[in-house]
Amino acid sequence: ELDTEKYTFQTEISRLMSLLINSLYKSREIFLRELISNASDALDKIRFLSLTDPSALGETQRLRVSIAADPETKTLIITDTGVGMTREQLKQNLGTIAKSGTAEFLQKLESSKNDEEVTQIGQFGVGFYSVFLVADKVTVASKSNDDPDQHVWMSEAVDDFVIAKDPRGNTLGRGTQITIHLKDDALEFLDQNTLKKLVTKYSEFINFPIYVWSSHEETVKKDLSNEDEDNDEDIEEEKIETPGEEKEEDEIKTVYKWDRVNTQKPLWMKPAKEVTDEEYIEFYRAMAKEPTTTPLSWIHSKGEGDVEFRSIIYIPHKADPNFFQNLAEKVHSIKLFVKRVFITDEFELLPKWLSFLKGVVDADDLPLNVSRETLQKHRSLRVISKHLVKKALDMFSLLAKEDEEKYGVFIKEFGSALKYGAIQSDSHRKKISTLLRYPSSYDPVSSSAGVSLDSYIERMKNNQKSIFYLSGQTVAEIEQSPFLERLLARGYEVLYMTDPIDEMLLQRMPGYNGKVFVNVAKGALNFGDEKETAEEEEKENQRYEPLRKYLKGILADQVDKVVLSKRLTTSCMAIVASDVGLTGHMEKLMAAQNV
Ligand code: ADP
Ligand code: MG
Repeated sequence: ELDTEKYTFQTEISRLMSLLINSLYKSREIFLRELISNASDALDKIRFLSLTDPSALGETQRLRVSIAADPETKTLIITDTGVGMTREQLKQNLGTIAKSGTAEFLQKLESSKNDEEVTQIGQFGVGFYSVFLVADKVTVASKSNDDPDQHVWMSEAVDDFVIAKDPRGNTLGRGTQITIHLKDDALEFLDQNTLKKLVTKYSEFINFPIYVWSSHEETVKKDLSNEDEDNDEDIEEEKIETPGEEKEEDEIKTVYKWDRVNTQKPLWMKPAKEVTDEEYIEFYRAMAKEPTTTPLSWIHSKGEGDVEFRSIIYIPHKADPNFFQNLAEKVHSIKLFVKRVFITDEFELLPKWLSFLKGVVDADDLPLNVSRETLQKHRSLRVISKHLVKKALDMFSLLAKEDEEKYGVFIKEFGSALKYGAIQSDSHRKKISTLLRYPSSYDPVSSSAGVSLDSYIERMKNNQKSIFYLSGQTVAEIEQSPFLERLLARGYEVLYMTDPIDEMLLQRMPGYNGKVFVNVAKGALNFGDEKETAEEEEKENQRYEPLRKYLKGILADQVDKVVLSKRLTTSCMAIVASDVGLTGHMEKLMAAQNV
């Protein structure tokens, strides 16, 4: 009559569970973060539904998470008033439908059994199973508006799980209650102070109140005790234990109540000046589900004038290696809120070329009952999108100006995305091109970002009309190019284009600030400095004559002659084979290359 059914876990999931339940990870406390994160997602969902259908909240109006430990049964009980799950959803979400990330996560976990890997479980879409880091038996009771009955799911982390109609009936109203039977070595999670510490750590940025069931010792003046009922929270409950020995005047009683653990103000609502770097970093980690990484940079801004909104946009520390392969797919990089209510992370507020950024946007000008389908129609989102692109470009410029090392990392990770932006966006091409950096003969091995086109132009010779470049797979390969010698010998700087997207960009952007890009390896080059050369050369030779003589004096036995070189651009000297041999070699090489 309870309609009990047994199901087999999808193979990879049962492998994952047995790995987790038999493990001894130090960071197993992260199960709490994963369960709270799921509760928060479920609360986001019901709140979103209630925007267009106020009856969705029904009898269960309060949106919250509560956590209670029961030392007697060694259980931890986590309850949310979120959207809940139907019987079918319990079966699909918790065990039978494969998640795309499972195999990848298993592989990661098996290849390196350190703590770093297991903390990333949430990123792979299997965060729920982290409960088996601390549990040997778990039951999930859930009630959804879409199912007349409350159901329970139960597993002991073996090959199968059970689902039945909840014999207790509909006790939840709506939502989900997870009962965790702790392993004997995980009883520390029964301690209310441990729980509070962890919940504080992991739920700081959860936008729903989280309560922990706690005991308090209170000293009460005996004759006042009747009036001392402190009942401003309506879900408070009290249990009074009479201490063994009664005193004449004061009485110590143990009071149990729900303690609110997190504060509710979202970080983006605070003035930027009041937020510390640590808070920004922690917020990023919670939002991006990247618990251990540190973003490269961020920008926290308030919409100016016409549209009211707040946003925090981050540059991640690393690019997605499949960025270009995945361009056609939906990205979930920006979470959109309307007046603090989470709406969606599927609306593309940023153009594709900026989809590597992550962050939140909270708009005040949208109606609260906006549906995801009609978002496209709202003009204010287009305005916000424009603002965000501008803010992002400002953030890049500032990083370039203020932190060369970080900008170097930024260019290494996201330089190709910027170039893609310069190809895609006619309106931002100019601005983006100032942000580009290239390795060049002026600065070929530096660990910095490379040279900017502006700095190249600043170093150009008086009569130079073009920006010279060479393409190749790597800087080392380009440095072998005989074409390079010709330019360097004349004292010109050459940009090294090693990114496959460079050629595409140059088709769109044939010049920069009036200077044309010229591929040194193609066609005849006109330098325009041919006349000057002889005169300049003579002057330089005279200037360095004393140094030349001095070096020749001390190196008399080692070298044939000492001459002023124009071949060198960055090193101060080079030892080379005799002119005759070198020229011969060069001639052959040039001939082979058809110059
Ligand atoms: P993810 O959260 O990345 O989807 P999880 O393994 O953490 O992966 O959770 C799997 C799914 O189970 C969730 O997507 C959700 O549909 C469902 N689920 C888990 N916990 C809850 C909950 N407290 N309330 C409602 N649904 C939940
Ligand atoms: Mg999850």
